Amino acid sequence: MLNKTGVPSKEQVLSRFPDNVALLRPKAILECYEDIPCNPCSTSCPFNAIEIGENINKQPKLHTDLCTGCGLCVPSCPGLAIVIAQISGEHAVFKLPYEFLPHPKKGEIWDGVNRSGDVICDAVIEHVLVTNKQDHTAVVTARVPVSFLHDFVTVRVKR
Ligand code: SF4
Ligand code: SF4
Repeated sequence: MLNKTGVPSKEQVLSRFPDNVALLRPKAILECYEDIPCNPCSTSCPFNAIEIGENINKQPKLHTDLCTGCGLCVPSCPGLAIVIAQISGEHAVFKLPYEFLPHPKKGEIWDGVNRSGDVICDAVIEHVLVTNKQDHTAVVTARVPVSFLHDFVTVRVKR
């Protein structure tokens, strides 16, 4: 499916998510589904939570127990393939990379979008982090209903 449409299957997506108990704390979700020579996610993690190994072509593997959800790996990925997810009551809270302008602002409500580009829910913007260290990639914290935990992937300004 990924090869034909660019959209990962439900099984592929679920394979990247820790269980809901682990997600009571923030965890990195590595949506990197192809063997490519790339490893800044692994080298950016101060807790050695992302393993690629000696063969740089291997897909990254998250050691969930080591991941603190710090988010340092999010802007490091050139493919924008990493988000941080956490379950918080009735909501799922995501930290996601965002490279368009204008940036969202705290308190705004944007569209929540799935992996096919469809609008699926409202997303409340909780925080926007932009620093020189992030090489122009903002990290946006957005809150969506928890039922969209495995479907929501990014935000888009309402039209
Ligand atoms: S969120 Fe922090 S601890 Fe977890 S994999 Fe990314 S850099 Fe490592
Ligand atoms: S930095 Fe991104 S694209 Fe590169 S291996 Fe890590 S998750 Fe995949």
